[in-house]
Amino acid sequence: MKKYLGNNCTVQMITYERSIKSLVQEKAALHDREVKEEAFFIGDLGDIIAKYQVWKETLPRVMPFYAVKCNDDYAVLKLLSDIGVNFDCASKAEIMKVLDLGVDPSRIIYANPCKQNSFIKYAAKKNVEMMTFDNEDELHKVKALFPEAKLVLRILPPSNFKVQCELGNKYGCHPDKACTLLEVARNLGLNVMGVSFHVGSGCEEAEAFAVAIQQARNVFDLAIDMGFDMTLLDIGGGFPGQQSAPIPFSAIASVVNEALDQYFPASEGVEIIAEPGRYFVASAFTLTVNVIAKRVVTKEKTNDDDPVDTQGPVMMYYVNDGVYGSFNCLLFDHAKVEVSTLQESDERSYSSSIWGPTCDGLDCILEDCPLPELRVGHWLFFRDMGAYTMSAASTFNGMPPPQKYYFCEQDQWNMVYPERVRKSSYIQKIPFMMTGHLVDEAHDFADEIFGTSPAAEALVGSPYGF
Ligand SMILES: *Cc1c(COP(=O)(O)O)cnc(C)c1O
Repeated sequence: MKKYLGNNCTVQMITYERSIKSLVQEKAALHDREVKEEAFFIGDLGDIIAKYQVWKETLPRVMPFYAVKCNDDYAVLKLLSDIGVNFDCASKAEIMKVLDLGVDPSRIIYANPCKQNSFIKYAAKKNVEMMTFDNEDELHKVKALFPEAKLVLRILPPSNFKVQCELGNKYGCHPDKACTLLEVARNLGLNVMGVSFHVGSGCEEAEAFAVAIQQARNVFDLAIDMGFDMTLLDIGGGFPGQQSAPIPFSAIASVVNEALDQYFPASEGVEIIAEPGRYFVASAFTLTVNVIAKRVVTKEKTNDDDPVDTQGPVMMYYVNDGVYGSFNCLLFDHAKVEVSTLQESDERSYSSSIWGPTCDGLDCILEDCPLPELRVGHWLFFRDMGAYTMSAASTFNGMPPPQKYYFCEQDQWNMVYPERVRKSSYIQKIPFMMTGHLVDEAHDFADEIFGTSPAAEALVGSPYGF
């Protein structure tokens, strides 16, 4: 059974408990039947819904603004907007994409401290008021182009904690310099209303948040003393999104909650937001690739005394996505990926390397991993491929992006898109569907369904969210 999420996007309902591997198997078998070797993503939208539930329970004081750059897939953005998550955008195109979903501009923070002038003008035109800054020139730009903006000062977090991707080398005003910057803002008559930070992406030490929140408090007080009406704390991103992360989300959440209660007690009424990216999407996507070529390398024994060289041949597999595509995360995001096969695990394994499809020697996904022997046409899959993968991929060498299949557990889907009572006469007149509708039921002609999106007045209520 399939439901409609808008924009040509259908979601296959899961009605009984199924493993990721079984979903991969189903679609790999479909590709085999259709003689299609294309790589594909399995997107488990229920995983994103579950993440939101955990967030609400674990960080009840913090409103998430999803960082669009992490994965700007339509289904991800549409679902997040429907469950009530807000957005962190960093460019005109990202803002456009989110506004096109019908999201109110007040649900967007333009969280790029160094913005191009034309983008600031666009934000002003579209009424996206909240934006970050960390330098004096930005204040002059905002004064000239959008003087009513609600400004959030991004400070530099402490750098002595371990993170997957450093951000402090590029952004953030040192807390010692905040006073000077705030004076400039005050002299320009600008409206500074909050403080933000980003501890770095893929935070590996929860304490980083505690120290950063404390520093934010100091800057907050400074700004209040200078006469600013401070109403917002933005604790940025950095939350882990997969089981294998060095520290669990819950560990960070408990440190954050404690620091918030100490430095920003609820009684004070300051609005707390965050900009999680990978938290929401990392584990929601699994990438399946096809073995398109293979090379067996028999090792030549160079040294008779070499104790290592006894394992027989080494396998090289070439697959149809790589470092220039979804696996760009290996370079840019310093990610580590883990490969799985559809074969039984008790087969003999060989030392194997996995290579992408482009002609570049750099295009290596895994250098040495034990795998059962594979043939051309076999499938390999990689879990936790939702964050900083497809959003930063290129089509270098003419390699196409993978297809996407969406799944969602039926109960979770129903929580976001409850069955609605439809006025059947109404539906007959409108040759398209609304988000949440069952595809087969609502219309006989799928082509027409996917034609145009409904006019605003044709909407029979909106998704209810939670
Ligand atoms: C990239 C980014 C995020 C998201 O970071 P995650 O580590 O994926 O949570 C949030 N805010 C800003 C300003 C960013 O640049």
